[in-house]
Amino acid sequence: MSWSFETDGEFQEQLNWIEAFTAQEIEPLDLVFREPGDPWDPASPAAKAMAPLRAIVKERRLWACHLGPELGGEGFGQVKLGLMNEILGRSRFGPSVFGCQAPDSGNAEILAHFGTPHQKAKYLQPLVDGQIASCYSMTEPQAGSDPAEFRCVATRSGDEWVINGEKWFASHARFAEFLLVMVVTNTDVPIHQGASILLVEQGTPGMKILRNAAVGPYVESGDGVHAYIRFTDCRVPAENLLGEEGRGFLVAQTRLGGGRVHHAMRSVGVLKKAMDMMCERALSRTTKGELLANKQLTQEKIADTYTQILQYRLHVLYTAWLIDKHKEYNREVRKEIAAIKAATPKVLQEVVYRAMHLHGSLGMSDETPLMTMWANIPELGVVDGPSEVHKVTVARTVLRDYDAAPGLFPSYHTPTRRTAAMAKYGHLLE
Ligand SMILES: Cc1cc2nc3c(=O)[nH]c(=O)nc-3n(C[C@H](O)[C@H](O)[C@H](O)COP(=O)(O)OP(=O)(O)OC[C@H]3O[C@@H](n4cnc5c(N)ncnc54)[C@H](O)[C@@H]3O)c2cc1C
Repeated sequence: MSWSFETDGEFQEQLNWIEAFTAQEIEPLDLVFREPGDPWDPASPAAKAMAPLRAIVKERRLWACHLGPELGGEGFGQVKLGLMNEILGRSRFGPSVFGCQAPDSGNAEILAHFGTPHQKAKYLQPLVDGQIASCYSMTEPQAGSDPAEFRCVATRSGDEWVINGEKWFASHARFAEFLLVMVVTNTDVPIHQGASILLVEQGTPGMKILRNAAVGPYVESGDGVHAYIRFTDCRVPAENLLGEEGRGFLVAQTRLGGGRVHHAMRSVGVLKKAMDMMCERALSRTTKGELLANKQLTQEKIADTYTQILQYRLHVLYTAWLIDKHKEYNREVRKEIAAIKAATPKVLQEVVYRAMHLHGSLGMSDETPLMTMWANIPELGVVDGPSEVHKVTVARTVLRDYDAAPGLFPSYHTPTRRTAAMAKYGHLLE
C-alpha cells in the first residue's frame, strides 16, 4: 500500500521554475492586457506578448501537458497537472502561456478523438500550437443546466446538416476559428440519445452573433466574449458530425471531466494568492496599537483560511490521483469531481471575502486583485453546470452505498443493538 504526499525532486524543480516564471513573466500581463478576450484572442496585442513566453515553455517541454505526445503534449497525469495548474491559476494568462486554456484544451481532445483527418489537419494542429481559438457551444437562452430544454436543432438534408436555433454564452465564438455546437438531431427520443455535436466553421452562412455578453459590470455592453448566436438554415457538411449521431453527450464527456478538475486546480492558485495578500496585510497594518496579525480575530481568519485551502487542495489532488489511478471517469471519480466542483465557489467566497474584508477600503477598491477575484467567483458556481446539479450527483452516488433501515427502527437503534451486544458479552457482567 502506498499513500504519499510527496512531489519527486525532479518535478519539484520544474514547479519551482513555473512559479518563478509565472510571477516574473506572466502575472505582469494581467496588469497590461485587461480586455475580456485577451488571453485567448489570437488577434489581441496580448498574443504578441505571450508568443516569446510560449516559446520558452515549449522549449522546456511544459506546453499542453494535458495532451499526449502524439498531439504535441507531454501526457502528464492529473496530479502533475494539478500541481502545475495551481501555480498557473495565479494569472488569467497562465493557462494560455502553457497551452492548456479552456475551452481549447477540451476541444482539442474532442477533435483528436472524433475529427476526420481533414478536420484534424485544418484545426487540431493550429489549435494545439496555440495559433487559433475555438468555442464550445451548448447553452441556449432558455436552457443551460437542463439539456432536455434544448431547442437548437439540426436536420439532415442530403450530405449536409441544417442548423436552426439559438445558443447563449458561447465563450470566444467571436474570435474562434470553429465552434463545436451541441444540436438536437432527433426530437423523438430523450435528449441524451438525440443530441449530437457539429463542427461549425467561423463565417458559415446562416450563423450570426447577435451580441456578446460579458461577465461583470466592467466592460461596455458588446465587448464581452460570451456570444449570443442565432443559426438560420446554417448548413454544414455531414462529415462535420463529431462522433456518432445522438451520442453528443458522450462526446462532450471527453472534455468535461478533465476541464472541471482543471478549474478546481486553478482555483487553488487563486485561493493561495488571496491568502498571501491576507497574511502580508495582517503583518503590515497597525490598529489600536498592534498589528492586525496579533489580534485573535484576525488569527482565526488566517487559521480558518489556511485549513480550508489545505482541505480543498488535498481534495482536488486526491481527485486527480483517482483519475490517474483509474484512467477513466468512472462513478467514483465522477463523484469526487462533482464534489470539488460544488465546493469551489463556496471556499472561494469565504476566503476571498475574508481577504477583502481584512484590507478594508483598499480591498474593495480597484487597486488590488481582490475585487476582480471576487467578481469571478459566481461564474464558478454555474459554468459547466450549477452547484446544485453536482451536489445531486454527489448525494446520489453516496446514497448508493447505503440501504434503508431493515425494520421499523434504524440499524443503529441503541436498544436493539444493546440487546444483541448483551447476548454476546452480557454474561461477563454477571
Ligand atoms: C463565464 C461563463 C462562461 C460560459 N461559457 C460557456 C460556453 O463556452 N459554452 C456553453 O455552452 N455555455 C457556457 N456557459 C454557460 C454555462 O454552462 C451555464 O451557465 C450553466 O450550464 C447553467 O445554465 P444557465 O446559465 O442556463 O442556468 P440555469 O440552468 O437557468 O440555472 C440557474 C440556476 O437554477 C438552479 N438550478 C438549475 N438546475 C437545478 C437543479 N437541477 N436543482 C436545483 N436547482 C437548479 C441553480 O440555482 C442554477 O444556478 C458559461 C457560463 C459562464 C458563467
